[in-house]
This record gives sequence, structure tokens and C-alpha cells, in this order.
Amino acid sequence: MIDAHLFRWKSRLLTAGAALAVGLGAVVAPATGAAAAPATAESTLPSGNSAYRTLADYESDMADLAARYPDLVKPITLPYRTTSGRAVHGIEISKDVRANDGKPVFVDVGMHHGNEWPSGELTMEFAIDLVTNAREPRIASLLERARVVVVPVVNVDGFVRNRRQTDTNTDMNRNYGLGWLPLSSAGTAPWSEPESRNIAWLLSTRQATVFNTQHTCIQVVLYPPLQLAAGPAQDASRLHRLASAVAAQYGPTYRALPSAEDYETTGEAIDWAYYATRGLSITSETCPNPGVARTFETQVLDTYAAHRSAMLEALETTADPREHAVIEGKAPKGAVLRITKSFDMYTSPYAQPDGGVRPTSFTTTLSSDLDVVRPNGTFHWAVNPSYRPVAAYQADGVRGNQTGFHTEPWILTCERPDGTVLQATRVNVDLGEQVRVDLSPCKRNFHRKDVR
Ligand SMILES: [Zn+2]
Repeated sequence: MIDAHLFRWKSRLLTAGAALAVGLGAVVAPATGAAAAPATAESTLPSGNSAYRTLADYESDMADLAARYPDLVKPITLPYRTTSGRAVHGIEISKDVRANDGKPVFVDVGMHHGNEWPSGELTMEFAIDLVTNAREPRIASLLERARVVVVPVVNVDGFVRNRRQTDTNTDMNRNYGLGWLPLSSAGTAPWSEPESRNIAWLLSTRQATVFNTQHTCIQVVLYPPLQLAAGPAQDASRLHRLASAVAAQYGPTYRALPSAEDYETTGEAIDWAYYATRGLSITSETCPNPGVARTFETQVLDTYAAHRSAMLEALETTADPREHAVIEGKAPKGAVLRITKSFDMYTSPYAQPDGGVRPTSFTTTLSSDLDVVRPNGTFHWAVNPSYRPVAAYQADGVRGNQTGFHTEPWILTCERPDGTVLQATRVNVDLGEQVRVDLSPCKRNFHRKDVR
């Protein structure tokens, strides 16, 4: 039987192939690759594609998935438009995706660097794969237990222009605030770019157990820290375990190591993400073996099967209860629960306008919510641990080899849907731990009209 959905993908492939054959296809090769691959008869990708997407292709693929699979796919728009005014889109994927029910989250993004086209392709193909194969037992089980957030093109302006930087000429993967330094391409200030603020928003408003940012072109999976002076991350062994599992799927020539040991940088996504949220944050770089031409075929078609296995490893880690914390209890059906914390973080010290050399501070606020949907009011909320790793970047400079954690509780509020806060309580919860909260005051007052 011919599946209508499959047919649609295939018919687009034929159209693309025909356009190429008559030389009408406006197919541009990325700077990191060689020529665009000729259309091949058999594509092994979930989409059936055999050439790079345009921005319009990404947009329509995501819109189609959301329209065809409304129980599995929910579109999201990131809050900040790019410098040139473009919207940044993504999708959430899970079983019963519209229920805001507290599953652990895997955030997977491509194309921080706009000329690394395979990073967007692999990310988009994995999303299509999860959705169109959602009945495959392994994927069904993962989508039952976890939520996936996919943003295939985070640097949209860079992608459209096929260049690494954003339209302010900034490398957005040097613009994240933690440890930031005013390098030539790092932006005028920490978080100066709407593109990096979008990712901060994404990770600050959901409890991401795992965060993957996809790049080309090295054979390596990297994890924090970015600088040797910072010393090993508190969760170095967990980070290494995940990075190794992902690297092993890509192949025996791939290595897993702290980013600083590859080459030192500052202001990358994974550093801020890990030290702010304690989510396991990795940079996956794929590349063909040395001497192999960089084409759509070698960088996307030939890489996808390994990428699928690698991302399924990341998703298994996300769903593993040992890799996050759990807040559970009983609340009134219809209530909104929210956990929040707010803290200061620091850049590296650098020359300030007044001539002094010191860090700049910035505030990170994490806030996510859950809807109490079960009739009996029970909830089970996978969250990041309340204990946050102390970063090397401090108010008075870089102090490496930190081993401690900030003991900052989550502030949990129980609210009516209109935002009336009926109860606020502090929750300390560690990795792998389940904590039960007593929400009886909220339950008592939820339906009382005299309580405002
Ligand atoms: Zn890159």
C-alpha cells in the first residue's frame, strides 16, 4: 500500500531531481561542502530528499508535520526575530504533545553556523524520522517517556546567506554570556544577538535533561568546559558517558572530549546551558573521513543512519530517571504548577569602557510550568536538579576547578489557570531523586471564590 505521506515526500524528490536535471534548481552548495550532490534514484533519508533544503523547505516540512500529526507535533516560534527580521521556528515532538505534562526534554538544534548545512539537515531528518516512525516500538516508548524540541536552523540569517555568522557579523556560538570575552566575532556584548537569546529562552523555559547542538566539520562530540582554566565540569563523568555514547554511534574515528581539549573558546551555547541548567549539554560535530569529498551524499545521506542512532542514545539518556530529578504529588486538576529560580552569572574579566578589567554580570531566570491534567490530580514532573554547578566565572575573575554546587531551591508555585498563586514552596531535589511536595493548601483553596 502506498502511504500518502510517503508519496508526498517522494513527489517532491522527483520535482527537485527534475529541476536539477534541466539546470533550473537554485541549489547552492554550502561553503563547507563541495558541489551539491546530483539527485540519486534512491534516497535513504526519512524525507526521501536528495539535495539540501532551502529555508522555505524547512518551514514547509515543519508545518506539514504539525498539520499531519497534531497529536505528535506542535509548532513553536522562538521569541526573538533575527537581526534581519526573520522568524525562527521549531517543533516539539512527543506522544500527546499538547499536554504540558512534565516529561523530560531533549533539545536538539542545528546550524548555529549558517554555512554548516548538514547540521540542519541531520536535525530535520531526525525529527521527520521520529514522527513518521512513531509506531516503531523503540521510538514509541521514547516518545511516551520524553519530549523532543527541534530547531533545525537557529541562525536563519546566516543560513540564508550561507555564512557562519549572523547578520551583525557575529558568531552566535561565541555570544552566550557565561565566560564571554570580546573576541572579534563574539558580538558587542554578551547576549547581544537575538539568535543566542532565543536558545537561552528555549532552555530557560523547559527542563532539558539533554541539549545537543549539531555542527560540522570535525569528527568529535564535545562537552563543557570551553577553557582549560575552568577545570573539569562537576558532571564530567556523566557528560563524558553521553558524549562517548553519541560519538560511538558516529563511528570509531569519532572522539568524545571536553571542548577545551579540542580548542579553547568562550561564550558557546553548551557552557552556559550546562552551568545554568545542569542539563547534559553537548556539541556534535560530524565530518566525512579525511580525503573524502564533502557533498550532500557524504555529509547527509551517508551520515544519517549513524546520526539517528546517536540521537536515539541522547533521547534514551533524556528518558533515564537517573539523569534528571522528579517532583511529584497531588494538585487540583486544572491547576498550573511553576518552578522558578533566578541567579547571576558572569563573563570572563575584560576591559570595560572605564578602563577597568572585570567581568560583567547577567541574570539567568529559569521558569517552566506544568498543567495538572489527570482527573485525580497526580503529577510526575521530570526536572533538572535544584543543585546547580558552580562555574569558574565569578564576580572576581576566573576560579577554576570548582567542585561544588549552588544550593538554590526551585520555588514551586501552585496556581489557578488565571495566574492566582495559591501556594509557594521551596523544593530541593538532587539528581536521580524523587521529591514529593505537599500541595494541600492549594487543593483546599483552589475552588474557593473568596481566596484571591
Ligand atoms: Zn559550527
